[in-house]
Amino acid sequence: MPKLFINTMGCQMNVYDSTRMADALKVLGYELTDNQEEADFLIINTCHIREKATDKVFSELGRFGQIKERRQKEGKDTLIALAGCVVQALGDEVLRRYPIVDIAVGPQSYHELPELVTRWLRHKGQRLVAQFSSDAKFDHLPKAQAKGPTAFLAIQEGCDHFCSYCVVPYTRGCEYSRPLEDVRQEAQQLVDTGAVEITLLGQNVDCWHGKDKKGQPSTLAELFYELSKIEGLKRLRYTTSYPTDITKEVVEAHKSLPKLMPYIHLPIQSGSDAILKAMNRHYTVEDYMCVVQKLKEARPDMAISSDFIVGFPGETDKDFEDTLAIVDRVAYAQSFSFKYSARPGTPASLLRDQIPEAIKTERLAILQKRLLQHQKAYNKSYIGKTLPVLLTEKTKKGQWLGYSPYLQNVHVESPDDLYGKIVDLRITDATASSLTGQQ
Ligand code: SF4
Repeated sequence: MPKLFINTMGCQMNVYDSTRMADALKVLGYELTDNQEEADFLIINTCHIREKATDKVFSELGRFGQIKERRQKEGKDTLIALAGCVVQALGDEVLRRYPIVDIAVGPQSYHELPELVTRWLRHKGQRLVAQFSSDAKFDHLPKAQAKGPTAFLAIQEGCDHFCSYCVVPYTRGCEYSRPLEDVRQEAQQLVDTGAVEITLLGQNVDCWHGKDKKGQPSTLAELFYELSKIEGLKRLRYTTSYPTDITKEVVEAHKSLPKLMPYIHLPIQSGSDAILKAMNRHYTVEDYMCVVQKLKEARPDMAISSDFIVGFPGETDKDFEDTLAIVDRVAYAQSFSFKYSARPGTPASLLRDQIPEAIKTERLAILQKRLLQHQKAYNKSYIGKTLPVLLTEKTKKGQWLGYSPYLQNVHVESPDDLYGKIVDLRITDATASSLTGQQ
């Protein structure tokens, strides 16, 4: 069987896309491998969100080039494809910039991979590009299969918010919601093949409005109730949320649906109203706090995580202090923080008042230290408590690793086979990055 290796960069949507590419390529007999040296087909699923991520593509392609050359000497062909948002952003130029790439496929077109590969195998040397497809991608993909106890399920793609720093509306296009029945069927397939926890994905997941059987738009809250009926599905999550798109029905679902996990990724990006305005985020800090309060009223144990961008053009010391203040107010359970990275074609990249790199680096270090303090305190608050943990893998050290309802990593020593089981563990220790449990 020919071997397929995929290097996935970027967000959870890319992780989902990579699994679906592998599913699509099964019809040609491709089998996934972790060893890129033995792969007949190498794919990089790229991310364009930050300059650093795009730079990584170059170094990975260099490695792929060496593999191709060595295999060529052994008389073996190696096909190299570039997938994801870099392809969408650069278009045909991607083949000029990256000469060793045989196939370039955008995020809306990866269902065309089997056809592109077949064409490439017939006419070697021909270089092929597929970007936005007129076909609905999800209608052309094979049935989804779970690869373990947890699975991602894309329900929505694209975004109409146009935050001034973000490439997503240009790389993933405008908002699209998959129909309710398609989502329900895929969730059922994932459960039938071993998933007990599903994370619904969307660039702006709260805007999901997939049509029901009567052709009427549904809401995300209705989807939660529908999917909760699936027997065997024990846990439901969703990401990423735009703060002011969260409806009272979604908040209510957190109160009444036990399968809906008490965790939400709610990016604020900055604690300064002036910066939020410059980012074209349509809320103020107090609007955001209002959403946090409602979620906490519905589920007092709700864990909240966020994304932060430091060093956005024009960010003053005071703006940055305001960001630290919101970190202290919310006391985030987890967070992701980055230096602002100007992306070509976005309005923010044209702003004059760009922040020097040294200041961005300094602010990021201060912010990350503060975030880690909160994360550690949050995790330590569970010592002595008992949490239901879904065990998903065995580490190299022989411990079981899994997730609490609040998406904390939990380790446990056990001679039992706990794979895919939800087990009550008493938490005995905690660091900023994980918990230790005992049966
Ligand atoms: S809401 Fe998210 S995906 Fe949409 S433009 Fe803003 S940052 Fe990008």
